[in-house]
Amino acid sequence: MISLDETTTQQNIQDILKVFASVNKAEIKASSALSVTMLDNIPSALTRTSSYLTHPVFNSHRSETQMMRYLKYLENKDLSLNTSMISLGSCTMKLNAATQLIPVSWPAFNSIHPLAPADQWKGYQQIIRELEQWLSNITGFAATSLQPNSGAQGEYAGLLTIRAYHADRNEAHRNIILIPISAHGTNPASAVMAGFKVVVTKCDEAGNIDVEDLKAHAEKHKDQLAGLMVTYPSTHGVFEESIKEICDLIHANGGLVYMDGANMNAQVGLTSPGNIGADVCHLNLHKTFAIPHGGGGPGMGPICVNDKLAPYLPGHVALKNSTKAIHAVSAAPYGSASILLISYAYIKMLGAQGMKRSTEIAILNANYMKARLHKDFKILYAGKNGTCAHEFIVDLRPFKQTAGIEAEDVAKRLMDYNFHAPTLSFPVAGTIMIEPTESEDKAELDRFCDALLQIRKEIAQIEAGQSDKSDNPLKNAPHTQQEIAASDWSHPYSRQEAVFPLDYVAHQKFWPSVNRVNNTYGDRNLVCTCEPVSSYADA
Ligand SMILES: *Cc1c(COP(=O)(O)O)cnc(C)c1O
Repeated sequence: MISLDETTTQQNIQDILKVFASVNKAEIKASSALSVTMLDNIPSALTRTSSYLTHPVFNSHRSETQMMRYLKYLENKDLSLNTSMISLGSCTMKLNAATQLIPVSWPAFNSIHPLAPADQWKGYQQIIRELEQWLSNITGFAATSLQPNSGAQGEYAGLLTIRAYHADRNEAHRNIILIPISAHGTNPASAVMAGFKVVVTKCDEAGNIDVEDLKAHAEKHKDQLAGLMVTYPSTHGVFEESIKEICDLIHANGGLVYMDGANMNAQVGLTSPGNIGADVCHLNLHKTFAIPHGGGGPGMGPICVNDKLAPYLPGHVALKNSTKAIHAVSAAPYGSASILLISYAYIKMLGAQGMKRSTEIAILNANYMKARLHKDFKILYAGKNGTCAHEFIVDLRPFKQTAGIEAEDVAKRLMDYNFHAPTLSFPVAGTIMIEPTESEDKAELDRFCDALLQIRKEIAQIEAGQSDKSDNPLKNAPHTQQEIAASDWSHPYSRQEAVFPLDYVAHQKFWPSVNRVNNTYGDRNLVCTCEPVSSYADA
């Protein structure tokens, strides 16, 4: 197998032709070499005549120095992990250690074609086998497929194995998937893509699955029940106490349980989807297992299954497949294989004890922050003993009434404090969800809490009428360098309050490059839709 890409030169192709020619003892005709390299075998109707990449950015940076400065200029606009913690709940923004990342740059791993003959990538095979084994152990399951490229693709693949399982038992009519209202939007979307009908079930006041409602639905649909999709700990950041009961209930009514593994950072080493009673889960290796994410990928969303579903894991033309395998879900047999090295290194270097410790610290960090914040903010959900899992939701909805302040204002204001906003309005509109992960030390957790507590004071000033309702640091956030340096400053609060609200900020100030750009523009000029889970209710 020969793989060519944009770095291949005409000379490379001539050399390849020479090798084949010498083996066959043949001459290379000058014309045949040329026709390959000049691409004159492409029909003229398909060749480009228009100009392309005409924006100045594509031809302005012509030396390495210029290019470096351009990239640094872009980087400076980005409030990223190299400034402060990114506490995006449900996204597990943890350290992506250099040691884990470096192997991805090695040609031995990044220059091999995904469909190369098996004897050319034996090292990769060893890594893939070991990683499959580890992920099976971690999830308490029998087998793993490293094919899906994202969590959502894992959901799709996992649901297809459930479909295949039922069909194989002459129960192809089982086509209903129950999904609690608190689920991530990808859950119902994947279920519909996999050909199922979605039935949405309720949550109670505390954010837990309403077991009575679930039971009623499971029993009502027991002849058509294919399964349940459930996130554990829940998207509300709580270890759902009835999880085992819930899994039993689904099984008793003929369904299987798909566990959304996005919250595995609260389980690894402590418990597992297999232990809880699920049948299949995906793992977001780009969340729990240290692959960097943001900016759209690439990710990896392998699925792990118990022995019931193992025969149905995705097949691929390049693999030896079980006769019952579902079709491939990705073009390549092991998805974005090169980034598996990151998760491999993460697990290998931490070891079983280290991973368990990471989970414990992640949960401890969330509970520490929750304890620091809970007197000043309403924390939306908690378990029976008042604790959360690895993340928690701060309710900002009351401030709309008392001060005209919305969750978005708090999110923007955090930038003035050098912090990226937590997850906004998921899974509950008007709230923020904070997930510190194990990567952050106490000083950083404290800075973030200090920032939120100081913002709470700013809100209190509006509530007390000491601060203007529309012209205040929250409504005008984030503040740019140009704004505070301008000769006219007309706001009732000081420039210092605007951009250096706490002492630590001055130490290494992050400057947002723009203020708010018509926020709702994107909402009013839709490109695609991502429907809320509730829209699938009774659909
Ligand atoms: C991130 C996430 C997903 C989807 O994973 P992707 O890799 O983004 O496709 C699904 N469910 C939950 C709860 C998530 O947080």
